[in-house]
Amino acid sequence: MKCDKCGKEAVIFQKYSGMHLCAAHEIDDVERKIKKHMRQERMVIPGDHIAVAMSGGKDSAATLSILVETFRKRPDIKFSAITIDEGIEGYRNNSVPKVKELCDKLGVSHIIVSFKDDIGYTLDEMLKRERKEASCTYCGVFRRMLLNRTAREIGANKLATGHNLDDDAQVVLMNVMNGDIERLARLRPSRIQEGLVPRIKPLMDVPEREIALYAFLKKLPFYMGECPYAHESLRGEIKDMMNEFESRHPGTKYSVMRGFDSMVECLKEKYKQVPLERCEVCGEPSIEKLCQPCKLKKRLRIEKEKRDILS
Ligand code: SF4
Repeated sequence: MKCDKCGKEAVIFQKYSGMHLCAAHEIDDVERKIKKHMRQERMVIPGDHIAVAMSGGKDSAATLSILVETFRKRPDIKFSAITIDEGIEGYRNNSVPKVKELCDKLGVSHIIVSFKDDIGYTLDEMLKRERKEASCTYCGVFRRMLLNRTAREIGANKLATGHNLDDDAQVVLMNVMNGDIERLARLRPSRIQEGLVPRIKPLMDVPEREIALYAFLKKLPFYMGECPYAHESLRGEIKDMMNEFESRHPGTKYSVMRGFDSMVECLKEKYKQVPLERCEVCGEPSIEKLCQPCKLKKRLRIEKEKRDILS
């Protein structure tokens, strides 16, 4: 197949747009979508210090690379990279060196914060101790807290994540399937909350497979392995289902997000954003008196004490 723009060999067929694109035009197309989205949302403004959450996968690699390349001539805009090392044997230890390689290449400072140092246990250790929730719940609760706290501590005023179109469409569908419409409304917060570093998602308009191809064509260092706990989540099933739908009905993922965007204002009206308090234990922003990470930590501690008594 030939590229519809220049006649060179095509590397991708975008079913939803009907376009065949060669490597150079696919790179252009991905960058155009990301830059357009950043402009529309006024994501980056003069004086920003943006912390980029870096897992070492394709999405975070593409996020950091395009942000740094786009604003290379803007010394007033600063970037830092933060990696949370959850302590997942055979996974995170392979992806962290990729982040380091990319940060060195782009000249971005890189901070690593580990579950083990901060919480006292790796994710693997937590899951051996307690399994009342899905693995991703433990992981997500602590990772979100550490990312936010670290970004705030280094003086970043925004936190960029590598969420792509597929990720957000999966979250929309997952919350609908769980009947958790209040959580769905929180996907687009109405205002900035004290203590919470606002998040930006530059890749939100680009399908996952195009980000993967982009990272590959740009020769970005990234880790291709999958988290060993990924298959346990409902999200994995939703991902498979959406991919199947997308292949039979091209454009489904964009339609899900369009549908969500057209009802989000009604949702925000119904589910008003509640002002956050400070957790009485750690002082981090929280809806309740005790934040989720402190609740989980307390449970893990109790579980350990029980085991110590029995052993
Ligand atoms: Fe954490 Fe789940 Fe992602 Fe694995 S798949 S890194 S456990 S959130």
